Amino acid sequence: MNSLEEMLALERPDELQALYAEAYAAKLKTIGPKVSVRGLIEAGNVCAKDCYYCGIRRSNAKVERYLLDEDEMVRLAELAKSFGYQSVVIQSGEIESEEHTRLIERTVKRIAALDMGLTLSLGEQEEEVYRRWREAGATRYLLRIETSDEKLYSRLHPASHSWRRRLECLRSLRRCDYQVGTGVMCGLPGQTTADLADDIRFFADEDVDMIGMGPYIPHPDAPLMEEHPLTAAERLTLGLKMIAATRLTLPKINIAAATALQALADDGREQGLKAGANVLMPNITGVKYRKQYQLYAGKPCTGENAELCRQCLDRRLAAIGEHILYGERGDSLRYFERCKNAQR
Ligand code: SAM
Repeated sequence: MNSLEEMLALERPDELQALYAEAYAAKLKTIGPKVSVRGLIEAGNVCAKDCYYCGIRRSNAKVERYLLDEDEMVRLAELAKSFGYQSVVIQSGEIESEEHTRLIERTVKRIAALDMGLTLSLGEQEEEVYRRWREAGATRYLLRIETSDEKLYSRLHPASHSWRRRLECLRSLRRCDYQVGTGVMCGLPGQTTADLADDIRFFADEDVDMIGMGPYIPHPDAPLMEEHPLTAAERLTLGLKMIAATRLTLPKINIAAATALQALADDGREQGLKAGANVLMPNITGVKYRKQYQLYAGKPCTGENAELCRQCLDRRLAAIGEHILYGERGDSLRYFERCKNAQR
């Protein structure tokens, strides 16, 4: 195996194909030709944060804000279950309030009662809040560190946003016994290959269970400017190289093929799976809200309903020799391995 820096610097098509094939073989060996699915519920775009790259940042006055209520979220989880998706992800902008904590707590209890795996991706919260949601029945939490480089983080966020707090949140999540997921954006302005290699070392050092990462894609109403914008093809390649290098470093974790890959190429998610990813998160949010949850330009499937997404997925996976683990939660192998080691 090459060093992380060498893998991430590859450019020749034959060398890239060899990297993806090696990572896919590693995935086949630990996980098999199987893909875990989570129905993605985009629960709301109300956000207290003002990240310079994000389309739903607080200062974007063009966004019409929404927040699903408890019944709407539970109904979507039931829909996911009727498709055979045994897990859902609830993702939204960041809200820290007792009222919101209670809304999520009630919703989590009802979804857990459906005997489903549940990932939350609701940003930075106090440890007590994470604990309450864990006790209510949430099993996984995804909080991207965005970049493991504190200096780069500070160039992408207002001064009020703290990389240290995000790191502390990841550690709180571990203490609360979640399956912990993190991730980064790749292709950020000012980000180097060495930074991306450090990101993968960060995943290993934090011993995370899951990764949700993807290419950075500019949003026309977000202020982050790029002096030398990458092409869509370059962003996609970077995303695939990161998946492959991460799989080769951490063979037993869950790695999602992010929707952002599909925004860059119609078969971007399949390419992600063939580079070592093993999780897909088909969107099950109602079509009327999908356009209001645009983190970046060119979000795919904004006009498709959940049933169409499901049929499309089956077809696409069959074409690459993979299949969906219907009726299974698809928990992280690494999480259970760590729990077993702790009992010894
Ligand atoms: N509020 C939660 C949080 O902070 O983790 C979850 C929602 S947040 C919008 C989900 C993820 O979208 C972020 O972690 C970020 O990596 C990603 N994102 C935002 N803007 C993006 C962009 N322009 N391109 C690619 N990914 C983006």
